[in-house]
Amino acid sequence: MRGFYSNFRELQLNEQEGQDYQITASRNWHRVLIIAPHGGKIEYYTSQIAKWIAGEEFAWYSFEGIINGDNRRLHITSHNFDEPIVLQALQEADTVVTIHGLKNSIEEFLMIGGLDSTFGTELRVALQHHGFIVKESKQGYRGERVTNICNRGCTGKGIQLEISFALRKRIFEDAECRIQFIDKIRTLIKGRIIRG
Ligand SMILES: [Zn+2]
Repeated sequence: MRGFYSNFRELQLNEQEGQDYQITASRNWHRVLIIAPHGGKIEYYTSQIAKWIAGEEFAWYSFEGIINGDNRRLHITSHNFDEPIVLQALQEADTVVTIHGLKNSIEEFLMIGGLDSTFGTELRVALQHHGFIVKESKQGYRGERVTNICNRGCTGKGIQLEISFALRKRIFEDAECRIQFIDKIRTLIKGRIIRG
């Protein structure tokens, strides 16, 4: 999806914080950072999913559209997303996962992108093992640009999860599915921290 604004500064000059958008984040930063750059009403449920993955111990950040009506103009393309608070948080993060939404409201699936292909493969295998459908990332959804927000942590490579609307809704409404999905991702992240 092409962004309406080409960077955060441009958005900030045209939109009202607290009325059109809001930024929320965990109290402390952590080496693990889960980001919803298109949260709130821009890509529904992504803020909530990011917070669930972060839980109590990891850091999270959420940029949220709160307009009554169409929030699409608040969508800053991932490789242009340069909001200063999250850029600062990224300096301390070596494991970065961004949560996005794909429109599909019929099929429950996700696509895994980002430059951390090792972690991406681990995630794909684990989620598939638990019955989740992981599709090959299409062109434009691979999160391969170095300036993609998922790749701007200290290692220069992160993970981007593009989750269909149907699967996001399921995760939100079905507690069993949610536990499977969230716990699996959290367990893998913890494993990476232990391995260093
Ligand atoms: Zn997105």
